[in-house]
Amino acid sequence: MSELLALDGLTKRFGGLTAVNAVSFSLERGEVVGLLGPNGSGKTTVLNMISGFLPPTGGRIALNGEAISGLRPNRIARKGVARTFQLVRALPSLTVAENVVTALAFGRRTLWGKAAHEAAHAHLAAVGLAGRADQPAGALTYIDQKRMELARALAAEPELLLLDEWLAGLNPTELRIGIDLILSLKERGITVLLVEHVMDAIRALCGRAIVMNAGRKIADGPTAETLRDPEVVRAYLGD
Ligand code: ADP
Repeated sequence: MSELLALDGLTKRFGGLTAVNAVSFSLERGEVVGLLGPNGSGKTTVLNMISGFLPPTGGRIALNGEAISGLRPNRIARKGVARTFQLVRALPSLTVAENVVTALAFGRRTLWGKAAHEAAHAHLAAVGLAGRADQPAGALTYIDQKRMELARALAAEPELLLLDEWLAGLNPTELRIGIDLILSLKERGITVLLVEHVMDAIRALCGRAIVMNAGRKIADGPTAETLRDPEVVRAYLGD
């Protein structure tokens, strides 16, 4: 394995609040890693800095050894970092395929016309949504909206995919489908960093978990061990 992403002393202050405090970790290519922590611990802010939506106050982010901290979101997307909900929101009146085509414009390769439609269909097939390609996005069930979100993220042909509570709100049957979809991304070699509260999903998906509390990284290691760490347990109990 080789290092894909490295955060070094990453810090974000909002006025007097240090939302992310000198956080360092790295992701190996092909890993699926959970980023956990109680509400307000800084997880989303970390994702926002990796994807370029917020400039860091301090520290560094490197992708494939190249500094990306502070680049704009579209530049970072083109370097292979995708996020669900990134850049363009789903448009309910467009078809499912058209929604994926719009997302293609933000990826690493810009495709047009027939090539774009073929690529969109391939991404929809990869998430099990080929049969819904020509339906309006607004008519999709919740799990199918989730599939479409993923297809739109895949349109960027990411090396690194950031999922922010992508599994939230799924019923147990849908959750199984969602977990299998993420596993299929792993099989394709995509590195995934997921912020998630569904512990069963974390256990099923993540070999490793990183835990934040009050802006700091408090644990980083094999998932089962990390979730038993007394400091992690205390953080979740709101101690
Ligand atoms: P988490 O994702 O772990 O719930 P966040 O990263 O959303 O945590 O938030 C971390 C802290 O930063 C919280 O105290 C939150 O209120 C604060 N925060 C997040 N975004 C902003 C912002 N744009 N302006 C000011 N404070 C913010």
